[in-house]
Amino acid sequence: MNLKIVTLPGDGIGPEVLNQGVKVIRTIEKKYNHKIEVLEGIIGGIAIDKFGTPLPLETLEICKESDAILLGAVGGPKWDNLPGNLRPEKALLELRGGFNFFANIRPIKIFEPLTFSSTLKPEILKDADFVIIRELTGGLYFGKPKERRVENGEELAIDTMIYRTSEIERIAHIAFETAIQRRKKVTSVDKANILECSRLWREVVEKVSPKYPSVTLEHMYVDNCAMQIVRNPRQFDVILTENTFGDILSDEAAIITGSIGMLPSASLGEGKKGLYEPIHGSAPDIAGKNIANPLGTILSVAMMFRYSFNLKEEADDIEKAVSRIVSEGYFTQDLFQNNPNAKKLVSTEEMGNLICREIQGGAN
Ligand code: NAD
Repeated sequence: MNLKIVTLPGDGIGPEVLNQGVKVIRTIEKKYNHKIEVLEGIIGGIAIDKFGTPLPLETLEICKESDAILLGAVGGPKWDNLPGNLRPEKALLELRGGFNFFANIRPIKIFEPLTFSSTLKPEILKDADFVIIRELTGGLYFGKPKERRVENGEELAIDTMIYRTSEIERIAHIAFETAIQRRKKVTSVDKANILECSRLWREVVEKVSPKYPSVTLEHMYVDNCAMQIVRNPRQFDVILTENTFGDILSDEAAIITGSIGMLPSASLGEGKKGLYEPIHGSAPDIAGKNIANPLGTILSVAMMFRYSFNLKEEADDIEKAVSRIVSEGYFTQDLFQNNPNAKKLVSTEEMGNLICREIQGGAN
């Protein structure tokens, strides 16, 4: 296949983990005889420093021409005090909104040898395996008005939560279609006891549900869901939720896997093009030390092959390589401590090399 991928390294550990993802892309290209063009774009704080904007037009242009986008991470203390429209994170919202990537897919998979790295007891975690489907282009993060003003001599701030029926419908379909491929259960998470948006959310999801008779639908309030994820994560198969709730729940779910560095994500729209990124941020505290865990990025590459390119075998190959390397006890620093399965502490680079070697030599 001829494919064009744009990589956006960004800030902090972004370039370090992304380099490992690119190595994996090259390894797959060679092994499966694909022709993959990899272009690099500038985004985030580094783009602000160079061009005065977090998402320069030329980055947007090359992304438009690509089949898929792979992002490292953006942000850092240097840019924390800039106004909202000039912050690195604004680039992410523009990318998601600009390409209408309305569906964020975050698989929460527990690798057995990592259960000891988690904050939860291994017996609670055992066999937990679920997917969070988060609506990504609506709700509080995009609703207008979004502003500050002064009323009666006092400053106030307004964010607006808006959901339209069509926005809820299309993300609900993705959740049900995902569930059909899995254990056939959707948990729709809302705050319908308080929020009008949530009441509409629940009604629309109820209306979509009969189109998928083999899938069981349940509703759960977001506060309860936050508790259930740490109480009994095995009960979940597909969690469907809106933008803000999904943002918070997916970080909570991430940490039960052992490290936020393990988790990949895909953001998809109507077509095949997608934005793939690890769920962590730019981790300024460990940037430049070659100790960041690149597996979230590498697993994001696997999702890219699966969802944007429809290359299941290649995706499986990457995921199995990760599983085997972790089973052999090769851990980056975030996973290493207090884990009896840890055998060898490896750097970011070494982990990338191990996965590539495993893909090259390993049986798929
Ligand atoms: P973070 O995810 O960057 O870091 C949280 C903690 O997890 C830190 O202790 C960090 O060292 C650790 N960590 C994160 N990724 C890791 C990895 N791959 N390997 C090992 N340890 C890892 O979150 P934060 O500290 O809240 O945010 C830092 C910056 O990143 C902020 O500017 C924030 O706005 C930005 N951010 C960007 C994205 C993104 O680009 N998608 C997402 C979240 C936060």
